[in-house]
Amino acid sequence: MKIKKISAALVTAAAMAVSLLSFGASAEPETVEDYGIAVLGKQVTSENADDIFGDGSVTYDPEENALTFNSDIEYSGGNYLLDNDKDGLTIRTSKAVTLKTDWAGFFIKNNTTIETNGKLTIECPSNTMPIFLYNDHERVVLTVKDSELDLKGYAGMFGYGDMWDFGSHSALKIINSDITIDASDGQFGIVDFDEGIELECCEITSPEGAVNKDGNIYESDGTTIAQKVTFTSGAHTEGSTVIENEVAPDCENEGSRDEVVYCTVCGAELSRETVTVDALEHDWGEWETVTEPTEDEEGLRRRVCANDADHVEEEVIPKLDPEPEPETSEPEPETSEPETSEPETSEPETSEPETSEPETSEPDISEPESEAPAPAPSNQGSNPATGAAAGLSVIAIASAAAVALKKRR
Ligand SMILES: [Zn+2]
Ligand SMILES: [Zn+2]
Repeated sequence: MKIKKISAALVTAAAMAVSLLSFGASAEPETVEDYGIAVLGKQVTSENADDIFGDGSVTYDPEENALTFNSDIEYSGGNYLLDNDKDGLTIRTSKAVTLKTDWAGFFIKNNTTIETNGKLTIECPSNTMPIFLYNDHERVVLTVKDSELDLKGYAGMFGYGDMWDFGSHSALKIINSDITIDASDGQFGIVDFDEGIELECCEITSPEGAVNKDGNIYESDGTTIAQKVTFTSGAHTEGSTVIENEVAPDCENEGSRDEVVYCTVCGAELSRETVTVDALEHDWGEWETVTEPTEDEEGLRRRVCANDADHVEEEVIPKLDPEPEPETSEPEPETSEPETSEPETSEPETSEPETSEPETSEPDISEPESEAPAPAPSNQGSNPATGAAAGLSVIAIASAAAVALKKRR
């Protein structure tokens, strides 16, 4: 497909462009690009990138600069599983994939990232390495990100930093990945990344007390390079809670919001909790009379919610009694009624202090008792026209005195 595109371009291009292209390529496949990647000894080119072996097992996307292993491979052809000199290559898996070889695994000569989707297992004999870096460049960085790796061989990851003074330098960065390395038949788990091994959002969970220094992973003694190493993902750094998807409550409907915590290092979402917020209560204003009641017609009053002026409550004001008194405040008769019952329960409380006084001076007891009932009849008698209220308060005083009497006995 690439060839078609380019030949179409050639037809319309200027003669100079044609001659430049001709000079650029060495032989007849002038339009085929070699990407600097070899898989099982086969160069990946613009001709075979779509399906390198014709069986869908390995594909390369030049736009993403990504090589993907799609199925298990068992190889004994004497080449590296991968020989990469392409800067910025990403190695992927589309699912769990096992690569088995009788020779070495990934020979990384240029900056490379491994980002798997499903575990990548590389099994090498005990005299070769699943992953090793070596290059003609000044330095090579291998990044393993959000991956699952299982590596077996002489050394799990060999940086070839400065141990043999090859003049190259290497760094390893492991981000949020689960990696098991078993080099117990060989020598080293992870060794010779002279520019350091950086861990982000993951930690070494085995060996216990492992020491990460000088580009090697040591046993807890800090001098023996560990043969088995396990990295475990998820050692994130929680940021402060962020509010998302906030829906404000109103008087009738509850609101909600998501409380989300992200990792401050890698940005992964660590938790999300949806919290509901109670609906608001109406914030009613004062009642305002719309229509004054009369003796013949009910009135109307209205109040408005401060949260939302569309929330209005209306209430009928009862017709006025013929009596003159309740004109100004209709509800007052309602409130005066309970007064008759209230004193019965509350008055004894107020009379309690009275009970304590007499306790200290018993001789005085009879005096207040006799005084209380005494004025009652006289009040009733003198003001019969003042209405129920006056009479009720008298009764209340009388009953309070009766309770006081009971208590004393
Ligand atoms: Zn993180
Ligand atoms: Zn309201």
